[in-house]
This record gives sequence, C-alpha cells and structure tokens, in this order.
Amino acid sequence: MIASEQIIYLDNNATTQLDPAVIEEMLPFLTDYYGNPSSGYTFGRQVRCAIDLARERVAALLGCEPGEIVFTSCGTESNNAAVNSALQLDPNRRHVVTTAVEHSATRRHCETIAKGGGSVTVVGVNGEGNLDLDELERAITPQTAIVTVMWANNETGVLFPVEKIAEIARRKRVLFHTDAIQSVGKIPIRLIGMTINSLALSAHKLHGPKGVGALYVNKRSAFKPLVIGGSQENNRRAGTENVASIVALGKAAECASAALAEENSRVRAMRDRFETRVLERVPNTFVNGDRTARLPNTSNLSFIGIESDAALLMFDRHQLCCSAGSACRTGLVEASHVLRAMNLPAERARASMRFSFGRFNTEADVDKALEIIPAVISKLGVISPSDAAREPATV
Ligand code: PLP
Repeated sequence: MIASEQIIYLDNNATTQLDPAVIEEMLPFLTDYYGNPSSGYTFGRQVRCAIDLARERVAALLGCEPGEIVFTSCGTESNNAAVNSALQLDPNRRHVVTTAVEHSATRRHCETIAKGGGSVTVVGVNGEGNLDLDELERAITPQTAIVTVMWANNETGVLFPVEKIAEIARRKRVLFHTDAIQSVGKIPIRLIGMTINSLALSAHKLHGPKGVGALYVNKRSAFKPLVIGGSQENNRRAGTENVASIVALGKAAECASAALAEENSRVRAMRDRFETRVLERVPNTFVNGDRTARLPNTSNLSFIGIESDAALLMFDRHQLCCSAGSACRTGLVEASHVLRAMNLPAERARASMRFSFGRFNTEADVDKALEIIPAVISKLGVISPSDAAREPATV
C-alpha cells in the first residue's frame, strides 16, 4: 500500500480526501448512536435529529429549503432518480434531452431509456466544450419529459449556463435536472429563485465519504421515487438511512459553505500557477475546454506527441495521481467521449491529461508536479508508448 503522505494527489475530480472534521462528526454514528431514525424512542429520535441537521446543512450549501433535500446512495442514483421520475410522471412524454458530454451516470442511463422505447436527443458541443443553447431549445418537443444537463464537466471543468437552460426548459414547460456533482462545493450555488427542478450531488467530491449523495427536488415539482418501500425521506427514497454517511455529508456541506470563498480563490491561484508554468515549460501543450467558463480547480492539458495512458503510468511511478483523457481499448487508443464530442484533433485528444486540485493540495504539491511533468513528457516524446511501460522511474 502507498501511504497518502507520499503521493501528490491531483485527481480531486475523481474523489477527494475526507476532511478530518467530517470523520470526527460521523464516527459516533458508527459506534454509539446506532438507533434507527424511524424508531419512536429517544435513542432513535436523536439519530433522526442528526439527519435533520445534515439536511439543513446541505440545504444551506445549495441555497434551498431543507425539505427539498432527499438523501441517496450516490450521485449516480440521484441522476437516475430525477430522470426516471420525469418519465413516470406523464406516459405521453418519453423523450429526454441531454448533451454529448455527460458523465456515464447520465449517458448510460439515457442509452437504456432509448433501448427501452423512449427517445433521447443528444445536443453536441463546440471545440471549447460549450453548448449551443438555440440547438438545445430546438431539441425540446411536446413529448419531452426532461432536459438533463450537467453543471460542470468532470473532465474539462467547463461550466454550462444552467440558469439559462433552466429558463428555456421552464418556458417550454419541461422539467430541468442538473448533474451538479462536480460543481457543488466548488462554486457558489443559490437555488432559491432559480427554475431548476432537480439537482444531483455526491459527498465524495466534497471531502465527504463515498456511497452517499443527495437529490434536490424543488418543492413545487412533482416527484416519483426510484427506490420504493418504506416512507423514509418523506416517501421520496425508501430504505433505512445510511446515517453515518448522511451526517458526514452534512458536515462536508457545512465545511464547504464555510471554506468556499477563500478556497475557491486559493485553489484557482494554485491551478493557474500550475497551468501557466506547465505551458511555459512543456512545448506543444494545449488547454482543453473553455478557459473562462471553467471550474477553478480543473486543468485539462494535451501534451502533443505523447499517449496519455503512457504518461499516466510514468506519473504513477512518481506517485503523481491524475487522470488520462484517453485509454487503450482493444489495442487502439481511444479518446474520451467528452474530447471526441469537442472534435479535437485525434493527436490532441490522445494526449490529454486531467489535473484537478482541492482543499488539501499545497503549493509544494504544485512544485513537485512541476518537476515531474516536464521531465516525463520530454522523455515520453522520444520513446514509444510500449517502451514507456518498461521505463524505470527516473527523471
Ligand atoms: N456525474 C459526474 C459529473 C461525476 O463526476 C460523477 C463521479 O465521477 C458522477 C456523476 C457519479 O457520482 P457517484 O460516484 O457519486 O455515483
């Protein structure tokens, strides 16, 4: 096992380190406070109070009412539940509008809907990863049940104008759901006054634990549950609550609310210094995605002349964690669906790497990464990908 102190973790869009304050808050609910929140006695009721507090904290982070928060098992479930609900509400509306750059939590679900007799319109993006809102509006038909569009892209960090999209959906009288799993905790969100019907978030992207998420459902929006059984979550998500994880998500939301403004500018400055220095030191490097409408923590770079999975291997040997924008499948290097949708030249898409920063990164991490990356990329530029796999870790 590699100890976490040894690594340079620049993969915060994949998952984040638990905040120690979150661990402290959740532990008693794994040991002492094991009562069932639905039980009528004090030992159970105190657990219910802890869940209520978590709901208030998540609502405060989103700028909505606590009653609009439904706890789920993950971000994927939240996305699936919102879209399924819309399809169930009106049997005459079996059409979904989405985009070409969604996470598989939406993309695969939409593929299943299309195979199961529904229909899906996928709206494309331009070379910077931006949507054409007129095209999106034209995609909505009288049969459309829901428009589902992510807030921030997990690979490029590109931000979509969800407020405008929500307004288009409202005008066209269709529901609007947003996968905000990458944006919650990274940018300010205030749902009061917005016309978003539902929004998905996931605790492990904001220094909470894996396996717990939430779905915001606007109090004026009808909702049909995905998981059916008991009356938990006000009949919107059955099953005995994952208490410790929900408490942890609440604390993670509280920490994010408190840290957001300061963290946002610190992380942005760190990302920008990293990106500027890499562009200076590594020739033929390009930034993928819109550089303005972008999460403050994400940098998606293409190092022309390399294959990203070979770079991933070499970075791994230096304990540098990041993500590759392409992967070798059945002997061919294939770019991610996001970069393909952006229509990047194949050489650029194959050479893309994602670096994503977070609360626990330091300037020292940036310095170490800036030593490793130029050396690895220049080495890879002169050797073949198969040789890269055999190279010893010396730069
Ligand atoms: N949507 C986006 C944009 C994501 O980045 C992720 C996780 O990587 C998910 C959905 C899935 O979230 P979860 O892992 O909580 O199911």
